Amino acid sequence: MLKTKNYQFWFCTGSQDLYGDACLAKVAEHSKKIVEVLNACGNLPYEVVWKPTLITNELIRKTFNEANTDENCAGVITWMHTFSPSKSWILGLQEYRKPLLHLHTQFNREIPYDTIDMDFMNENQSAHGDREYGHIFSRLRMERKVLMGYWADEDVQKKIGSWMRTAVGVIESSHVRVMRIADNMRNVAVTEGDKVEAQIQFGWEVDAYPVNEITEAVDAVSKGDIDALVEEYYDKYEILLEGRDEKEFREHVAVQAGIEIGFERFLEEKNYQAIVTHFGDLGGLKQLPGLAIQRLMEKGYGFGAEGDWKTAAMVRIMKIMTQGMKDAKGTSFMEDYTYNLVPGKEGILQAHMLEVCPTIADGKISIKEQPLSMGDREDPARLVFTAKTGPAVAASLIDLGDRFRLIINDVDCKEIEKPMPKLPVAAAFWTPQPNLQTGAEAWILAGGAHHTAFSYDLTSEQVGDWAAYMGIEAVYIDKDTTIRQFKNELLWNSLAYRK
Ligand code: MN
Repeated sequence: MLKTKNYQFWFCTGSQDLYGDACLAKVAEHSKKIVEVLNACGNLPYEVVWKPTLITNELIRKTFNEANTDENCAGVITWMHTFSPSKSWILGLQEYRKPLLHLHTQFNREIPYDTIDMDFMNENQSAHGDREYGHIFSRLRMERKVLMGYWADEDVQKKIGSWMRTAVGVIESSHVRVMRIADNMRNVAVTEGDKVEAQIQFGWEVDAYPVNEITEAVDAVSKGDIDALVEEYYDKYEILLEGRDEKEFREHVAVQAGIEIGFERFLEEKNYQAIVTHFGDLGGLKQLPGLAIQRLMEKGYGFGAEGDWKTAAMVRIMKIMTQGMKDAKGTSFMEDYTYNLVPGKEGILQAHMLEVCPTIADGKISIKEQPLSMGDREDPARLVFTAKTGPAVAASLIDLGDRFRLIINDVDCKEIEKPMPKLPVAAAFWTPQPNLQTGAEAWILAGGAHHTAFSYDLTSEQVGDWAAYMGIEAVYIDKDTTIRQFKNELLWNSLAYRK
């Protein structure tokens, strides 16, 4: 499900013909070497493709337009080996529509003190050429990432890799289609939003389907398919009967298996990658989709509860950005529930009614059944577990009426102090940075939701860069946040983003 294209990134080196063919041959040799090392280093999630040196207005324009139309190209990495007059780049850049990384590097690490002469100076002048090149982006007010450092350094390579993930999130955003199985929860504001504007800004298609249409797909699942999946659940997860009747428990689990299969078939057939449900609008479904939604999220679908299509799309985007990551710790839909205000142990217990993605689980995962306090269906089966510890990022996309704002918070996930034997849902516990008090105050001042898209595997820089490419406002709540500064930032942003 999560499989996207085998994206590639083009490596374009800039120069000019002022220095003669011998120099241009060296430029090409150097950039080929860099591409070779980048592809072999093991720090990049996607392949880099070397392109012939860009020296003229015509070739630059042609190359960027080819990058636009090449479906496998997710972005271009540019570097000025020598000086490349940046007026030559104007038309090409104006027509370019994908993410761009300006890699500000240099072929040689050290100044060759003993041999350096004017020929060397003319041939190796990134410090000079990259400034001329960078200027034109600022003049054109174009979004781009600037990364400075030595190309052979692991740290720089990892930053290129991290940017590639953001770029794929940008490219894939226009392929995200969200299926709404229910409308927004009545009277709730923060999960609402302008779907037309979302399609203009992010490329998302957000469509509604009657719940009973998807219920038909669930009802059409054969008993054989359901039984096979229930077997898989019973093999994979611990069963927490807790005094319930074994046969009835299994029947309830089978309902979720039918929902998982039926939903997945319906989503696949209609080409949707994210879904929203609502506990108050279940039509012919026997249970609120719990375990079923958790498993779909694990497979890579985006999800939002109570009609929250913005968070569903964000979860999908963040799952795409982390795709194929080694030792990934997980990405999920999440909700702020309740605080621990004990001094020194401050934090927020995170959970949802049922729907937390098992990719974030630490260790054992169990199936539990319990009545829901809301809704009017049978007791739904759900996966329960506790989440991993460590740094993570929580993001909330809100619609302010005249624009979207993405609120990005660095959080520290901690071990839950004590077992919670009576809590029938998966849970995480985190302390927002810089601390619970300032973090929560800033979040509320920014208008952030109780729902978040949450990931251990992305940084706030990656999520913020995604927002920048999308042309929307992003605010960060992190170790440096102070309320006075943050309030000013919100005020200034309200002017900067005024339409
Ligand atoms: Mn909720």
